[in-house]
Amino acid sequence: MQVLVEPVAKLIDEFSRLPGIGPKTASRLVFYLLRAPEEQAGSLADALRELRERITFCSTCFNITESDPCAICTDENRDRSLICVVEEPLDVIAIERTSEFHGLYHVLHGTIAPVEGIGPDDLRIAQLLPRLGAHPPVREVIIATNPNMEGEATAMYIARQLEGSGVQVTRLARGLPVGGDLEYADEITLSRALAGRHVMS
Ligand code: ZN
Repeated sequence: MQVLVEPVAKLIDEFSRLPGIGPKTASRLVFYLLRAPEEQAGSLADALRELRERITFCSTCFNITESDPCAICTDENRDRSLICVVEEPLDVIAIERTSEFHGLYHVLHGTIAPVEGIGPDDLRIAQLLPRLGAHPPVREVIIATNPNMEGEATAMYIARQLEGSGVQVTRLARGLPVGGDLEYADEITLSRALAGRHVMS
């Protein structure tokens, strides 16, 4: 087998490490970029660099932001007594699209997944608790993790952590496709799930 020159092998290796991209797709991408106009590869490189230079995580809600705290956390018109807990920044975008939620968010950056070795300490769960004591006090935490096994387990774990805090914990209503992802739910389904949320504790 012909050995790939180092820069090619290196980029294939980098692409292969991305979620959903196997070695075959990685090779296709690399050879595509080799044939593409130089500006295209250049702007991809610039976009990647800019992403890490300009985007950071909000130190309050852990959503992605260009300024810390983020635009949602600093928005005086948002209802500070409501916190919606989601898995990923994309879920914030999905819920914002419904225009039904005017509270604040808390982004976990994943779910508890023992099979993959991801425990509660790998997520932003501990950082949620101090937020409950803010002024005005938080009265409800809506857990909007995905309706699959990991999402449910994470919701149960958070509900237990918040027991005795005096804060009402609710969960999005069923109606979201089981095993589905919040970010792919249409706005009407997601609005209904929000409106029909039920009390966990
Ligand atoms: Zn924020």
